[in-house]
Amino acid sequence: MTKISLLKVVESTTVDGPGLRTSIYCAGCVNKCPGCHNPQSWDINNGQMTDVNDIFAQIVADDEFCNVTFTGGDPMYQAHGFAELAKLIKQQTNKTIWCYSGYTLEEILADAEKCELLQWIDVLVDGRFVQALRDESLIFKGSSNQRVIDVQKTLNERRIVLFKYNPFPDFEFVKPLIKQDCAFMHN
Ligand code: SF4
Repeated sequence: MTKISLLKVVESTTVDGPGLRTSIYCAGCVNKCPGCHNPQSWDINNGQMTDVNDIFAQIVADDEFCNVTFTGGDPMYQAHGFAELAKLIKQQTNKTIWCYSGYTLEEILADAEKCELLQWIDVLVDGRFVQALRDESLIFKGSSNQRVIDVQKTLNERRIVLFKYNPFPDFEFVKPLIKQDCAFMHN
């Protein structure tokens, strides 16, 4: 069975995408961005070779409401293994998958093995971390050159569609109720 060089699995985290997520931290990255938050992840030998089925079992065992994030390291460096994991997740659960990669979408699209993984991904945060463009106010990314891409819309529409983050998805529904309350208070 296919294995992934794994650093750790972080369960029920809120920092690697919206909502609660199970984050899969892999080893192996060739991008070597200056200022990288996790340089110990660069060497693929720093990880533990772990069966894709065992990682999947851990994902399913985490809180049922948790979605999934692939990060590292660079999951695209082990695209074949992550593609198998992503396929299991998509075929057997309703979980969304976010993937962080130092490769740009254009670089991924030019590489058949990376495309094998891309097809299963919901949201890709792409591009190398650029220290000069670092901005702590950015949501879900470290530097302004990176993009948070809605992959499935991008593939369907054949143009880059950015992911629209709505932290209050029910707000539109609530608005009329707030208006009613306000009207009542002013009567
Ligand atoms: S792509 Fe990510 S993990 Fe790799 S060097 Fe850059 S910031 Fe670090």
